[in-house]
Amino acid sequence: METQVDVKLLTHTPDPIRVMYVAFRTCYSKFTPQQIWADIESGKISDEKMKTFIFDKIKSGHSSPRTQVYFTFAVSGLSRAASHQLVRHNTGITFDQQSQRYYAFKDQDFPYVVPETWERAGLREEYLAFMQRVGELYDQALQAGVPAEDARFLLPNAASTNLTFTVNFEEFLHIADLRLCWRAQWEIRHMWAKARNALKAEFPDLAKPIQPKCGDQRMGYCDEPMAEYLKCPLGMRRVRLHKDEILAAAKEGRTLESTPLNESDMALVATAPA
Ligand SMILES: Cc1cc2nc3c(=O)[nH]c(=O)nc-3n(C[C@H](O)[C@H](O)[C@H](O)COP(=O)(O)OP(=O)(O)OC[C@H]3O[C@@H](n4cnc5c(N)ncnc54)[C@H](O)[C@@H]3O)c2cc1C
Repeated sequence: METQVDVKLLTHTPDPIRVMYVAFRTCYSKFTPQQIWADIESGKISDEKMKTFIFDKIKSGHSSPRTQVYFTFAVSGLSRAASHQLVRHNTGITFDQQSQRYYAFKDQDFPYVVPETWERAGLREEYLAFMQRVGELYDQALQAGVPAEDARFLLPNAASTNLTFTVNFEEFLHIADLRLCWRAQWEIRHMWAKARNALKAEFPDLAKPIQPKCGDQRMGYCDEPMAEYLKCPLGMRRVRLHKDEILAAAKEGRTLESTPLNESDMALVATAPA
């Protein structure tokens, strides 16, 4: 059974903007966090003021207030190839993933992902036939008494998995730096773009700085090899600058203009195929 990744925001810190504001403000104010919270609740501190304050701090190294708020996501239909990359992130994020030991797939029909590149190569039917054969042998093994933990040795990287994860805002930004980059593997890139979209639906302002590392809210330029930059949709269209040209301009005393990364540019890179 073929699957596609689906991502849903299940829950989150009830008011992440307030919590981050209080956390930041506590560090720079004579007022206690209790007083600051009371000022927020009374309307003395507006939403706009809180957002401006928080987003001014995004580029600073003062990251701990961003670790005080969490978001819990559900992910289904993601390949084990992609989930293995995702679970390598381990600071500020925690996962629970469907077990292949305690859950055995039924009816010779395990779920799996079909990359578009196999279709483009004209090998889709061969791919599906191989998955069907794996499913049959997996089922035969289970029927013959092989435990699920050993039957799973047959399952390919393509096998789909389900997981829930809880991530704090700082780690959400960090993972986006790496995984929304055009050079990241397409499936984890698409998955993280879906997580961003889910966040954006509830908190449009919080989604703005969730960009690849070259975004204007992040590092601001591309530090990948020049040859790769020139292949990226943002590099080839000169939407982002490359570090080599910034260094060259600095040596020559020239200045360069950098533009914000808008939502259509974001979509172009986040959902680009493999
Ligand atoms: C393009 C790309 C290619 C990759 N290729 C491979 C590969 O070929 N083989 C492979 O095995 N892995 C590969 N990885 C995985 C990579 O090595 C990391 O395991 C993964 O990116 C998670 O690391 P992180 O620092 O982002 O972790 P996170 O947990 O997301 O880290 C969050 C932050 O905390 C810091 N941090 C994390 N852990 C520590 C620590 N113990 N001590 C101090 N600071 C810490 C990090 O610097 C980071 O800023 C690849 C990743 C990417 C993005």
